[in-house]
Amino acid sequence: MIPRDLLQEFQRVGALLSQYGLVRGSGGNLSVRIDANRIVITRHGSCLESLQEADLIIVSIDEKPPAEASMDTIIHQEIYRQTNAHAIVHAHPPHVVALSLFLEDIEPLDTEGSLIFGSVKVVEAPPGSAELAKLVANTLHNHKIVVVRAHGTYTATPTLLEGYHLTRALDYSCQVCLLAYTLFQVSKVRRILRRLISNKTGRYDWVV
Ligand SMILES: [Zn+2]
Repeated sequence: MIPRDLLQEFQRVGALLSQYGLVRGSGGNLSVRIDANRIVITRHGSCLESLQEADLIIVSIDEKPPAEASMDTIIHQEIYRQTNAHAIVHAHPPHVVALSLFLEDIEPLDTEGSLIFGSVKVVEAPPGSAELAKLVANTLHNHKIVVVRAHGTYTATPTLLEGYHLTRALDYSCQVCLLAYTLFQVSKVRRILRRLISNKTGRYDWVV
């Protein structure tokens, strides 16, 4: 039996992640530590947008997870073994995923993001592997959030709600980075085009 207030926390955070496009369909997963050896985690295939009690399962931190638990359970277990996290949010924020394709570390350009995150590590290993679990957990030793390239984020925080706020804040910062990079590229293209036309006609011309 899952305590009512804990179920409500899962439902609230699952709904917020969906509402702001940080997960879609059955993507993403959530867990909370309930004592020294056990966690509550979302089931494989559950939809974070509309979680019910039947979508949650209690598993041991040290034992092989049951098949019905989230496929990411070994990553959650490793994080709980290696850090003092009480809650983990795994999401697929689109702007973070896009930037992760090109960067080793994500460094927000906006003032707030820069203050909150400084630099966020991007890691890479086969999905669902023990290697990925160790990489993610090792990084969360010293950080509250880590990015898995082309996939998504994992947070290690005292509550699910804090994990959601961090995930959303990082996605906002990555959106700003993408906009800034795009505008920078546009201004570069404009300069090149103006130079080309100026060379051809002997006059400076605004064409784009
Ligand atoms: Zn995922």
